[in-house]
Amino acid sequence: MTQDTWGHVRGELLKSVGKNNFSAWIEPITFDAIKDRTAHFHVPTNFIGTWVTQHFSDVILRHLIAAGLSVDRLKFAVGAGATAQASVDIHTPPPGAMSAPATRPAAPPQAAATGMPESPLNANLTFANFVVGKPNELAHAAARRVAEGGTVSFNPLFLYGGVGLGKTHLMHAIAWELRQSRPELKVIYLSAEQFMYRFIRALRDQDTISFKETFRSIDVLMVDDVQFIAGKNSTQEEFFHTFNALVELGKQIIISGDRAPVDMDELDSRIASRLQCGLVVDLHPTDYELRLGVLQQKVEAERNRHPDLKIAPGVLEFVAHRVSTNIRVLEGALTRLFAFADLIGCEITMDLAQECLSDILRATDRKVTMDEIIKKTCEHYHLRQTDLMSPSRARSIARPRQMAMYLCKKLTTRSLPEIGRKFGGRDHTTILHGVRKIEELISLDSQIAEDAELLRRMLEA
Ligand code: ADP
Ligand code: MG
Repeated sequence: MTQDTWGHVRGELLKSVGKNNFSAWIEPITFDAIKDRTAHFHVPTNFIGTWVTQHFSDVILRHLIAAGLSVDRLKFAVGAGATAQASVDIHTPPPGAMSAPATRPAAPPQAAATGMPESPLNANLTFANFVVGKPNELAHAAARRVAEGGTVSFNPLFLYGGVGLGKTHLMHAIAWELRQSRPELKVIYLSAEQFMYRFIRALRDQDTISFKETFRSIDVLMVDDVQFIAGKNSTQEEFFHTFNALVELGKQIIISGDRAPVDMDELDSRIASRLQCGLVVDLHPTDYELRLGVLQQKVEAERNRHPDLKIAPGVLEFVAHRVSTNIRVLEGALTRLFAFADLIGCEITMDLAQECLSDILRATDRKVTMDEIIKKTCEHYHLRQTDLMSPSRARSIARPRQMAMYLCKKLTTRSLPEIGRKFGGRDHTTILHGVRKIEELISLDSQIAEDAELLRRMLEA
């Protein structure tokens, strides 16, 4: 391929990925050569290389092939070929973090131009892209307040919650906001792992003094996933001192973890109590509304790039119901649907969605336990569990019991004998009979069908 062809492909890519993405990710890369059906490119930093590989290699490949080239893979190397323009022209909002010049090509992406240890910020993780719902409204409000950058109101702000619930997103959002509104502040975001890595390096290089100085000159320090350093004693110790020094100087600190400070067994109790002094807010597991909100927002964003994206009514609701683990998994499901829609070029129907997401849906299914099914069924029919388990053949009890058996068969991966044992040592043929009975009734009796649907929804929500 000549540079001219690449120029043409770039033009096509601009149309495909949109202006922001183009200037942030495509513009910085330069074409090198095609060897053995592999197109080689230079990128200014590892970070850009990784990002482009993960997010744009498909589209780049598609356009290269469309331009008549025989290519089946792409390779991005950090290197001199990446021009200076790359580091100058990518200032689209929110600007900044990715503009590390290509002067130290081998440096990890964390090594920013300032020499300040920090982790890169993801351009998508802004407040504008954060969907607020009941489970995260407190955390969001606190993050907003901190991002206003006025007087330090709660120090530290500690955000905690399970994986994929938006802790990192909120921290990046705070960083973007502050970098824009208060560019004079030194705002540093880094993972606890990165903090430890820096500290160990400083120890090794006998340079802990400048390590301390660097950290103590920061105005806003964010440390993500602090559970990582719990139990790592010398790192914790240093973290504690850094932390105290900054708090005493009135600098804002924001920390995230996967649990509440008091529940982190290995965390130095002094750190835990320090963390406790600030504001501790948790991100709750998602609810249906939040999941649907996130899906709708992401579909909207995708439509801006691919206006012909078609998703049948009910598909998003279905995904929001069924994929109930965390938002990261939800995003993965959606990415898959988008890719699928792109591939087949027609509307994503419920059937296609089910097929395309079957593994994710199965994984979610396994999450429903027989105990939950029994509990919910009893609640639904206003029965006590002992009655449900009893030998009683009265229909008012036997039917709900069969419903619970049916749901155990449909919503879990348990075998009939296992279900039988759960239901007070019943024979597997009894379970099979119960399952068949409900299957039959669902098509005959609308009340039963409704009960089954309602229970299924509740259990999978
Ligand atoms: P955590 O750090 O808590 O493990 P992340 O912040 O990395 O989770 O979030 C996982 C993914 O889900 C990210 O891609 C993030 O953008 C997305 N996400 C999380 N919460 C929200 C939200 N409220 N609105 C939109 N996207 C979200
Ligand atoms: Mg995180």
